[in-house]
Amino acid sequence: MIRRRAGLLAAWMLGLWLLATAGAQAEQQHFQATVKWVADGDTVILQDNRRLRYVGINCPETAHDGTPAEPFGIEARHLNQDLVKGQTIRCVAVGHDRYGRLLGAVFLADGTFVNRELLAAGLGYILPGEESAPFAEQLLSAQRQAMVAGQGIWGRLDPRPRPLVGNRRSKRFHRSDGPDAKKIGKHHRVAFPDYPEAFAAGYAPCKRCFPRLEEMLVRVGSD
Ligand SMILES: [Zn+2]
Repeated sequence: MIRRRAGLLAAWMLGLWLLATAGAQAEQQHFQATVKWVADGDTVILQDNRRLRYVGINCPETAHDGTPAEPFGIEARHLNQDLVKGQTIRCVAVGHDRYGRLLGAVFLADGTFVNRELLAAGLGYILPGEESAPFAEQLLSAQRQAMVAGQGIWGRLDPRPRPLVGNRRSKRFHRSDGPDAKKIGKHHRVAFPDYPEAFAAGYAPCKRCFPRLEEMLVRVGSD
């Protein structure tokens, strides 16, 4: 009886594993494409007019629909242009975002991981999620190095103490006095004393709590 149960369990486990690998293969797709146009630091338009969003990162916005650019939005777009404009890239597509844009990890012919390059220059921050999990370690180490070096946005990140609350599941951080913070269950709740600690831990700012990047930066004359 016990042996039969063990056999059933093994068959069931094998079934689950087959389902999981089939799912992963269907999700991940490799292709080559030429970049026609660079929209901003983390979005490009391919030759076939598909919009490709770099997975696992978020770059400051450029000006659009009457909304002014965020600090470093223009620099992020310039770096992305220098890297991929007119280039044939290799893309590991991992799915679509909620706006229907293709999500992917982008590589140049020489192996350069473009998503990582933007973080290494301090021109974006990590945006954790299930789709970017295979690249998370590489992306976070690039971001941490950029933070230590004070590159790009990190040279202007507001270091003053400010209580923040992170959600271990979503890997987003919120204002501790806002409505989102109250909804996080105690098992998923993690406290951060300031922005640098939250970013260094690989958490990304919640868009509702922090709609604009400049709110988290020390002001300079041009803002
Ligand atoms: Zn929030």
